[in-house]
Amino acid sequence: MNNCVGKILLGLFAMLPVLAAGACASSTSPSTAHSGGTSGGHLATGGAPGAAGNTGGSSLGTGGANPATGGTPGRAGNTGAAGVSGGASSEGGIGAGGVSTSGGVTTEGGAADSGGVTESGGKTGTGGATGSSGGVKTSGGATTSGGVTGSAGAGGKSAGGTAAGGTAPTGGSKPAGGTTSVGGTPGTGNTGSAPSGTPVSVHGQLKVVGNQIVDQNGKVIALHGMSMYAWNTQGTQFYNASAVGHLAKDLDCAILRIPILPNSLSTQTPLLQAVVDACIANGIYAIIDWHSGAGADASAASTFFASMATAYGNTPNVMYEIWNEPSGVTWPTIKTYHETVVAKIRAIDPDNIILLGTPNWDQQPNLAAADPVTTSTNLAYTFHFYAYTHHFTSFGPNVTKALAAGIAIFVTEYGGCASTGNGTFDATELQTWWDFLDTNNIGCTNWSVETNGETSAIFKTTASKTGPWTTADITDPDGTTVLNYIQSKYAATVAP
Ligand code: MG
Repeated sequence: MNNCVGKILLGLFAMLPVLAAGACASSTSPSTAHSGGTSGGHLATGGAPGAAGNTGGSSLGTGGANPATGGTPGRAGNTGAAGVSGGASSEGGIGAGGVSTSGGVTTEGGAADSGGVTESGGKTGTGGATGSSGGVKTSGGATTSGGVTGSAGAGGKSAGGTAAGGTAPTGGSKPAGGTTSVGGTPGTGNTGSAPSGTPVSVHGQLKVVGNQIVDQNGKVIALHGMSMYAWNTQGTQFYNASAVGHLAKDLDCAILRIPILPNSLSTQTPLLQAVVDACIANGIYAIIDWHSGAGADASAASTFFASMATAYGNTPNVMYEIWNEPSGVTWPTIKTYHETVVAKIRAIDPDNIILLGTPNWDQQPNLAAADPVTTSTNLAYTFHFYAYTHHFTSFGPNVTKALAAGIAIFVTEYGGCASTGNGTFDATELQTWWDFLDTNNIGCTNWSVETNGETSAIFKTTASKTGPWTTADITDPDGTTVLNYIQSKYAATVAP
């Protein structure tokens, strides 16, 4: 757990600059605006009213012409008010173009102050789900004396005011338009690149070659991470971007498995997508898990996965696990289901890996290997074990046979506890399994990111639902042992 302690603390500190940077970025513009508004709002204490003011607002800036994809257009800049006689200046984002005169004598520049208000500029868009930056906010044109500058961002517009009885102020300079965003392809997921140094930036698009999963360079890759947990509302408290960020950066998960219950799609689909989006933003892999249990409806699953393929088929991050733990049905029935759902996905996404459930709660990939699905490529099969219940000597051969027959395996669930998710944590048996998985380059996601008090939960019941977490939040020895294993794999995972 020492490794875990250091990493968590390191993660906490590492996050600070990020948070600080974010806070600054979001507060700079409002702060500037506030400052500008204050000075612009000063009333000139002029003398007696002079000549009537001129009409103002003649110099309109053209504004940034920036339809930044994924970005939110900036608010329009304010329009300069007409100068008024007597030196009054208007407020609220309007430059004081006004001037006061005294006995017909023009004062210098009137009370133009530093006038002008800078509106906050374009807002940074999220650029789709890639984590690539969307529209970039730029600071607007300089505020000029007596003029008003709109600010920045797309669509910003400025207008200069005109001083009455005084010299005409120069209009605000035209704000620079926002820069075009990089990344997101609206509506069809996105194709932006992953943040540098992350698992996805190193390995990219995965595929299945023989009985192994390989990366974009053909290098065999075993990914290690956690499975989330969804049972009605239990577990889904962690389905948020903050928690995912900490799981990726602090706890070194290179992959997260995200279960969704078929009977809770309306409530859980947005939550699942929030997690997948956060995985993409953090450059880690994501398994979308149709957590149906015993029976599964091929029609409902096909509709769901078609929508997921449409949303994420262009990203290298996502894998589809189309039937968690089939039970009470034979392999031929399961195989037919897989062929149906695979066809729906492949009509949209030709390449992302699809993980296929195997008989008896994903414990018999050997039966699938004897009669594999041949209607598509990039197919791997799932195997689950809970070490206290499923000893390696009894169940390991099922995996060995499957590998020998040529199919690839991914362990999308496992634990050191009993198959109930609770009971004794058998660290010795779990280590035997891990050694086997390591030897065979088999990736795995541990069950689970939960606080429910079961042995399988890596978090204590008091753990924050958004993170960050400290060692005091991690269950021991179960959560601690599992996270140490995951963290022990990370450096090699992100090595070029
Ligand atoms: Mg694809």
